[in-house]
Amino acid sequence: MRTCLESSVPPIYLDHAATTPVDPRVVEAMLPYVREGWGNPSSVYAHGRRARRALDDARDRVANVLGARASEIVFTGCGTESDNLAIKGAAMAARDLTGARHIVTTTVEHHAVLHTVEWLQRHLGFEATFVRVDGWGRVDPAAVADAVRDDTALVSVMLANNEVGTLQPVAEVVAAVKARNPRVLVHTDAVQAGGLIPLDVEALNVDLLALSGHKFYAPKGVGVLYARRGTPLLAQLSGGGQERGWRSGTENVPYVAGLAEAFDLAYADLEGRSAHATRLRDRLIHGVLEGVPDATLTGHPSERMPNSASFAIKGADGESLLLNLDQEGICASSGSACSAGSIEVSHVLRAMGVPDAIARGSLRLTTGSETTDADVDRLLAVLPGIVERVRSAVLTG
Ligand code: PLP
Repeated sequence: MRTCLESSVPPIYLDHAATTPVDPRVVEAMLPYVREGWGNPSSVYAHGRRARRALDDARDRVANVLGARASEIVFTGCGTESDNLAIKGAAMAARDLTGARHIVTTTVEHHAVLHTVEWLQRHLGFEATFVRVDGWGRVDPAAVADAVRDDTALVSVMLANNEVGTLQPVAEVVAAVKARNPRVLVHTDAVQAGGLIPLDVEALNVDLLALSGHKFYAPKGVGVLYARRGTPLLAQLSGGGQERGWRSGTENVPYVAGLAEAFDLAYADLEGRSAHATRLRDRLIHGVLEGVPDATLTGHPSERMPNSASFAIKGADGESLLLNLDQEGICASSGSACSAGSIEVSHVLRAMGVPDAIARGSLRLTTGSETTDADVDRLLAVLPGIVERVRSAVLTG
């Protein structure tokens, strides 16, 4: 037996929604700015100008993929920061400008969104409506629009769910929301979608869109916020006024250069990457549903991320599944976690109406560019036995 980290045999990594390895080509794109191009992009001399050029180039490349203007791209420290800047920045600016004090979001957002909205409720007196989803985790655009009030500042609906992979009809949400109240801004957390599905800010028509480099083969610690020209946004970091005043702090040039390279690489071969991920995802879905009795697919059957296979396995608990998979050298993920001796069930599955007893056995397998058929074969070979062991431990435990 081997575990994900303790063996010389490379682990089978089926957790790309958690993070991705850094593409060696991305490392190569970063190294010149770690080694000799380490100048401060705000400096006027050649060292600084070189770093500034790298930043400008990265901004152009990211904007180009998104169909945006370079001036609409803000580099941040992570997806969480992008979500915070979008939500707090837009809510506070709207409050200052119009007295707006209401936010609409959904019950299945990542905590980077949910906890930010809750922070605004607790500390600044905002009110929030959390729109419910159906059994597949999808929101109804009409229900989102119905939640919009005259004093709504912002709507935040994620593009792809991190636990079950369900895609939200964001363009339809924007159309319905703007028809109800054209002043309302719409933000989408596209952190899971980045690098695997088309992201065109004109087609989506969102005002704000968050991305994170480490989900598409760039390193952790760098993110993007797209903010449509003219969007009122209150900066959350004050200081030297970098990033057009939206995000003070000396820019992380090597990481930004790496993010732009990774983003370009992903979108240069979007069809190929997506087709590869989808084929392996579908093998996982069919194999698990056939091989594991009482396993159900969670999330939408077709409107889902190309790389995401997620399940609820009745009578098993997610954490034990992960530990047993780890013993086989397979890295996976679960929405349920053991906390203070009891199993905490994912807020996403609960919001989808999955009974707690079943949601406890959640398992997420997410494929990536380097995932192979042999990886899928191995997972499908060991999972039924693991589930049987975990189920009998639950019964006797
Ligand atoms: N939003 C979603 C949907 C995510 O899946 C994640 C990370 O898993 C984040 C936001 C946070 O991104 P980061 O890890 O870059 O802070």
